[in-house]
Amino acid sequence: MTGIRLSFYGGVGEVGGNKIMVECGGERILLDFGVSFNRKRMFYSEPFLAPRTVESLLEFELLPEVKGIYRFEEGEAEVSAVFLSHAHLDHSAYISFLKRDIPVYCGETSAAILEAVGELRGRSLEYDFSGLKIETFRTGAKVKAGCFEVEPVHVDHSIPGAYGFIVHSPEGSIAYTGDFRLHGSKPQLTWDFVSKASESKVEALIVEGTNLVDGEVSSEEELMDKIRRLGRKVKGLILADFASTDVDRLKSFLSMAAETGRKLALDFRHAYMVEKLSADRKLKIPSLKDGRLAIYRKSKKRYTPWERSLMDRYETVAAEDVALKQSRYVLALSFYGFSELMEVRPPPGSCYILSSSEPVGEEAEIDYWRMVNWLEHYGLPQYHIHVSGHIMPMQLLEVLEAIKPKLVFPVHCERPTLLKRFLKGKMKVEIPKVGGEYRV
Ligand SMILES: [Zn+2]
Ligand SMILES: [Zn+2]
Repeated sequence: MTGIRLSFYGGVGEVGGNKIMVECGGERILLDFGVSFNRKRMFYSEPFLAPRTVESLLEFELLPEVKGIYRFEEGEAEVSAVFLSHAHLDHSAYISFLKRDIPVYCGETSAAILEAVGELRGRSLEYDFSGLKIETFRTGAKVKAGCFEVEPVHVDHSIPGAYGFIVHSPEGSIAYTGDFRLHGSKPQLTWDFVSKASESKVEALIVEGTNLVDGEVSSEEELMDKIRRLGRKVKGLILADFASTDVDRLKSFLSMAAETGRKLALDFRHAYMVEKLSADRKLKIPSLKDGRLAIYRKSKKRYTPWERSLMDRYETVAAEDVALKQSRYVLALSFYGFSELMEVRPPPGSCYILSSSEPVGEEAEIDYWRMVNWLEHYGLPQYHIHVSGHIMPMQLLEVLEAIKPKLVFPVHCERPTLLKRFLKGKMKVEIPKVGGEYRV
């Protein structure tokens, strides 16, 4: 009996970039294979200084030196499968570099989101999902990969289709939470994972610890109440910035818009993602034909084929339409769409609501200082109203006490030492090192 070996190649002492290798009896699987936006920012400033080659990603340890997994190497794959917890890019994007014969297992929603991301970004060095062997699973599945049997169990997070994993092997079981929370719209999903992990008497739990320093307690109800009250007061345009994959937020802005006699206008990218996601009936997303929604047509001369296709199939509104009836719209616009403000010209008394649920660097790289300059220029006060996608410290403790793992590995966490001290006397915490190997 040699036990299970865990190696951590990302998500160590940082939020995002999770890449975890699980090994047993010479067989290996990967749990997540994301991009580390934080580490990337240490060396690159896009678009002018961007990674252009695989060598550069290896040079700066954005890709770990692991033999037998990359498509640019000769030979057969030396890993049985990759399991993606969810489609946030800090957990998934770097599957781009993996050998195409390695099966990539993920939930159906994650597969749809990654397909949309691949189509929207076009083929690029870091986001090339072409030719990947994507296999989908649901909660209750038991996926065999080498000597492992992996049980995905849904969890609640700020993107639909998020899972944690229970990994069984002849040498025992371990569990991985992915990103999860208990204060969101579907805490029961997370509890299902917790009870499965607890039944499995896991040797080790790999757990996220994003919110140890800046935990802001909030709930869906509180958020709805805040944006509703704000929405009633604003006489001009309401700008809203939230992730295109955050279905909870889409629904809350949609309700607020409807209640205040406005339409929610989504830009092309956002609409493209919503169309993909609305194919899943369980998510209960309204179709883009719904009268409460509109597609905002950017004020440019040329449109890409997929933008044209959206324009052909759905009604769109142009900047001048919004400009004429500012009080009739909530315009979902991210910082990268701010040049539209030149055309829309929000009147005095308008406002901007930042509602992204993740820390900077997870979903997008918000350029805060420049954003505030734009807001000042257009006289737009900013509200930050959000619900975190990540578990709060006391709830994390509750989860750990329910699962009772023999060993805890914090990932997706900037302050693992804090967690170790927080759990002192209650649980054994091992703080992983990048590339370090741990036997359980
Ligand atoms: Zn994450
Ligand atoms: Zn996430």
